Amino acid sequence: MSLIIDCHGHYTTAPKQLEDWRNQQVAGIKDPAKMPKVADLKISDDELRESIANNQLRLMKERGNDMTLFSPRASFMAHHIGDFNVSSTWAAICNELCYRVSKLFPDNFVPVAMLPQSPGVDPKTCIPEMEKCIEEYGAVGINLNPDPSGGHWNSPPLTDRHWYPIYEKMVEYDVPAMIHVSTSCNACFHTTGAHYINADTTAFMQLIQGDLFKDFPQLRFIIPHGGGAVPYHWGRYRGLAQEMKKPLLDTHVMNNVYFDTCVYHQPGIDLLNKVIPVKNVLFASEMIGAVRGIDPQTGNYYDDTKRYIDASTQLSAEDKQAIFEGNTRRVYPRLDARLKSQGK
Ligand SMILES: [Zn+2]
Repeated sequence: MSLIIDCHGHYTTAPKQLEDWRNQQVAGIKDPAKMPKVADLKISDDELRESIANNQLRLMKERGNDMTLFSPRASFMAHHIGDFNVSSTWAAICNELCYRVSKLFPDNFVPVAMLPQSPGVDPKTCIPEMEKCIEEYGAVGINLNPDPSGGHWNSPPLTDRHWYPIYEKMVEYDVPAMIHVSTSCNACFHTTGAHYINADTTAFMQLIQGDLFKDFPQLRFIIPHGGGAVPYHWGRYRGLAQEMKKPLLDTHVMNNVYFDTCVYHQPGIDLLNKVIPVKNVLFASEMIGAVRGIDPQTGNYYDDTKRYIDASTQLSAEDKQAIFEGNTRRVYPRLDARLKSQGK
């Protein structure tokens, strides 16, 4: 009786009113007379239900995925827009919608929180939203944007003390963070094709360069999109760590860092699983997300990543169970507790 848990899904199909409200909020930054009130956004439970049942939930059922850890649309976080108040109001709205979805579909969706980050603002300002989402909404993890500037990378590296207030809270609540950037406002970086993958790779290298997990041995990060370029270049990262006189990656970072399976072809998934230990791989698809089409070579959706795990000839049945369920329950203890309370 095992579960298929997708640890990486966003509410990309929210009713149009959400985007309209955000556009008005952005207009209100320049012209305060246009700034909308939170109460101006009206989305009914039926609209939420419809936006999920016809999209994510339909595809989950078709593919055999039981549950998705569900966070606000990543590209819409756009932390670079406006100031902290703009981000704070926007994050609260987006997190509440994911919470409402999780109440409407308690067996299928579990909330993960976005943070009200803002460039140049102390990350500790994110703590009240984080606490609310975990304590009141049942969020089991957070998304942490290592580059709230949207492609200009002017925040300190993730190993800097700048970020420690967030890490202290993560340890206190025993929640992991998915390292996840938002939309790129730098024309050189396509949002999902370059900025996301660059950020995944960048975050991993920052963790090699620092000694963060000496200070926070319990801290856990998920690096999405299969870890960016990392598994493919594993030899480079092992070699760089060696030259920097760092411990072996197994002990230096791999007790704390996990990669998801948002890799959209069989050879990529096979490489991930050949290079990265099974204990560090969590099932995910990021559906409905960046790549929504059907692969003409296979006739299946690119992001139907369960097929690639199912088809893997190198993973045992136990390995697959760990990737689909066991690892995620271990990395997200609050999810595990919630599932146990549901008798799962
Ligand atoms: Zn994502």
